[in-house]
Amino acid sequence: MSENSYARIIPLVDQRPAALPIPNPKSGIASLLPATGLLSDTRGRALRDLRISVTDRCNFRCSYCMPKDVFTKDYPYLPHASLLTFEEITRIAGQFVAHGVQKIRLTGGEPLLRKNIEVLIEQLSALRTPEGETLDLTLTTNGALLARKAAALKAAGLNRLTVSLDGLDDAVFRAMNDVDFPVRDVLDGIEAAHQVGLGPIKVNMVVKRGTNDNQILPMARHFKGTGIVLRFIEYMDVGATNGWRMNDVLPSAEVVHLLQQELPLIALEATQPGETAQRWGYADAAGRHDKAAGEIGVISSVTQAFCSDCNRARLSTEGQLYLCLFASQGYNLRDLVRGGHADEELASAIAHIWGGRSDRYSELRGSEGAAPMGDGKRRVEMSYIGG
Ligand code: SAM
Ligand code: SF4
Ligand code: SF4
Repeated sequence: MSENSYARIIPLVDQRPAALPIPNPKSGIASLLPATGLLSDTRGRALRDLRISVTDRCNFRCSYCMPKDVFTKDYPYLPHASLLTFEEITRIAGQFVAHGVQKIRLTGGEPLLRKNIEVLIEQLSALRTPEGETLDLTLTTNGALLARKAAALKAAGLNRLTVSLDGLDDAVFRAMNDVDFPVRDVLDGIEAAHQVGLGPIKVNMVVKRGTNDNQILPMARHFKGTGIVLRFIEYMDVGATNGWRMNDVLPSAEVVHLLQQELPLIALEATQPGETAQRWGYADAAGRHDKAAGEIGVISSVTQAFCSDCNRARLSTEGQLYLCLFASQGYNLRDLVRGGHADEELASAIAHIWGGRSDRYSELRGSEGAAPMGDGKRRVEMSYIGG
């Protein structure tokens, strides 16, 4: 066997490592902390955003997320009994909301593959913040099933939507999703979502240098003036299977520079703290923001870390709480829920866990402190933890 073929072998080890111990008042190691609507971690970051992965399966095989040679039919996907039920998800989410979460994003894997997802959306949309406000309830999808599902999602109470789309050229798009899925169907899904009023819609494009960077301008031209906000995401070193190399990353600064040659842009203010995207508006002839032309966003997860105001927690498909996209271990909230613990104990555990959070992987990337792989642990996959 050549050295090269060794490099392609990625062992099918279970991606779900042992969970971290949960601070539990009953064990005498932690006091009972009530929900106050505001939690702060060790770096003073509030908890505002919860991302929930509802399935670890997907109908695409994007090479940067679920490479085909790893995510085969023999891959150890979670058995159905391991998945949180909709009632369990809603109960856990309710405690997060009591702690100050205002935004919930459903993700995966491909969330529209989860059977009856609209029932979960209905349950989550009934939650209220401590101030009695409704939540900002959203979902990220690859769009393959969107044309069929858009009306049901809207009727269930989904507020808005993010669709991932890595190119407009059919051949490039089919190569990116690696299952030969046509771009037309995703564009029809976006149109259907727009028609039923699931807006504002965002479109996310992961940019891989030399693979789909020729789609940056066509995508910008296509979505300019439509009310849809296109966001360019730097290809990240998330998970342990995508073979990430820095050379494959096209820095956001280069994306903006490229766009500026044809479509003049001006920098816009962030709309809220913890916003991941830097906003750029299309400029009019006088150099002012042309609101009708709209805006784009760039998410510079690699070249410009935004850990300092990261307010996001992630709940995996089987109920593990992760404090960072690059974590290698989570906290098993499903055990608490299935172990007959009261809501107060669940809320208290979340308070202790967030209170002890110090994660800032992207700020440390490249330095020793950033090496979850280096200390013998395996980072969880994006499809399991949710993007
Ligand atoms: N399947 C859905 C989708 O693709 O929209 C939801 C889950 S997917 C993991 C969520 C987001 O993560 C997508 O926008 C996807 O493009 C992004 N993503 C996945 N792997 C990534 C990587 N290595 N770097 C940057 N973004 C990535
Ligand atoms: Fe599936 Fe989304 Fe990952 Fe692509 S990015 S493989 S669509 S989960
Ligand atoms: Fe948040 Fe972790 Fe990403 Fe930093 S690396 S922004 S802490 S998820």
